[in-house]
Amino acid sequence: MFSQPNPWKFGKILTMPDTCPECGQPFEMEVGFWYGTGYVSYGLSFFLSVATFVAWWMLIGLSTEDNRFFWWMGLNAVFLVVMQPWLMRLSRVVWIYFFVTYDADYKQTAVKKFDYETESYYRAKSQEGEGGTQ
Ligand SMILES: [Zn+2]
Repeated sequence: MFSQPNPWKFGKILTMPDTCPECGQPFEMEVGFWYGTGYVSYGLSFFLSVATFVAWWMLIGLSTEDNRFFWWMGLNAVFLVVMQPWLMRLSRVVWIYFFVTYDADYKQTAVKKFDYETESYYRAKSQEGEGGTQ
């Protein structure tokens, strides 16, 4: 899905072809399509923070008597910054998956496109719940 395999090559983090080289699926399905990835990466960052918090709690422990909690906060912030390129990409993968699910018959079926002329687009959008509200 991304042109540069290494997410930590800065400047190329979000470089993508316009369509999937394998099935022709367009990636940016409407103007501002990737705006919704903000919510996805927020959620992913939150879950990563919970994970590091639990790991820190079990491996290092927490106490009100010292600064261990603040060490976790600082290191977790650094960790999230370092993971950012990977998170940005994962967010796009998760986001487009809300709209385009894997299709084993992709060679026979048409690519997914948003159709602004039909009511069904808006119906489908409200049925997708939080993933489709944007
Ligand atoms: Zn494809």
